[in-house]
Amino acid sequence: MSLVSAVAEYLSRDVKHGIREGDVYLTVGGTQALQVCLTVLASPGANLLLPRPGFAPYEAACEIYGIEARFYLLQPHHGWELDLDQVRSLADADTVGIVVINPSNPCGAVFSPYHLQQIAETARDLNIPLIADELYGHMVYGGSKFVPLASFAHLTPVITVGALSKRWMVPGWRLGWIAICDPNESFKQVKVAIEMLMNVTSGPASVIQAAVPSILSNSHEEFHKNVLIVLESTAETLYTRIAHIEALQCHSRPQGSMFMMVEINPALLLGIENDMDFARELMKEESVLVLPGFVIGLKNWLRIFFGVHSNVLSEACDRIESFCKRRHPTN
Ligand SMILES: *Cc1c(COP(=O)(O)O)cnc(C)c1O
Repeated sequence: MSLVSAVAEYLSRDVKHGIREGDVYLTVGGTQALQVCLTVLASPGANLLLPRPGFAPYEAACEIYGIEARFYLLQPHHGWELDLDQVRSLADADTVGIVVINPSNPCGAVFSPYHLQQIAETARDLNIPLIADELYGHMVYGGSKFVPLASFAHLTPVITVGALSKRWMVPGWRLGWIAICDPNESFKQVKVAIEMLMNVTSGPASVIQAAVPSILSNSHEEFHKNVLIVLESTAETLYTRIAHIEALQCHSRPQGSMFMMVEINPALLLGIENDMDFARELMKEESVLVLPGFVIGLKNWLRIFFGVHSNVLSEACDRIESFCKRRHPTN
């Protein structure tokens, strides 16, 4: 089986419109996939709607290609869902796309089919295509279900971005893809532009391409199942442990990906004024690395990665806890 048809077949498994071989383009990781999408959508005066908190390379790519980044806020108290009224208020005639990251990096949220449909309906009303960042597609647990956004492509064109890096845990292999789902064929020119750009760009290494049909086949379910068992358990451990630390707060249990957002209360942390101070001092004193939320658009939050063995995560939680205790104002 050719590599492109293997990817098309993999992406079509749970999408009612199906993804055709001719609608798939191979890229050097997810990063090149998002760069290609933004390159073809860029035009003078264009703007793009991005999630906040989000994934910083989108903002960087906007800057490089001269696209104005506009941020819609994910709502921590509503399962990190989009506020669609806010999306409507941000969009205008120069909006070239809405980026939706589901399952979410950095929030660990997984959107319901109903919410995905609402997003697609909003995009249809605004006449804007969707860019579905599904790097963590299928990495869901705890009863939630992954529904590809392309399932709603009859409402508006959907460009899906994916890669091997996260689900197969081979970030260095640099193999990703772009898949266009456009059953109404309203997006033909963008497809031609992607094709032309891919023709003058070099793609992923052939030796890695050769391995992909076997990697994407159904024969590795055991591996994925085991990964999800570990993630479900480390997500639960992290959520429960954080809930017991007074200065930290997490509003929802992760349902997918490998990240959780945690809010910090600097008033309960001596010598810590913000998330940057927290991350720096925690690294200095406890050798635990967390991402300050400031970097991804949310001040006084942290992104914590839990895609590690449970004993490593427990040790990290112990250290975060003793750090916060030591910094407690009554100490
Ligand atoms: C990692 C990641 C990417 C980039 O994928 P690579 O294959 O590592 O280049 C894109 N989007 C999100 C949300 C990611 O977490």
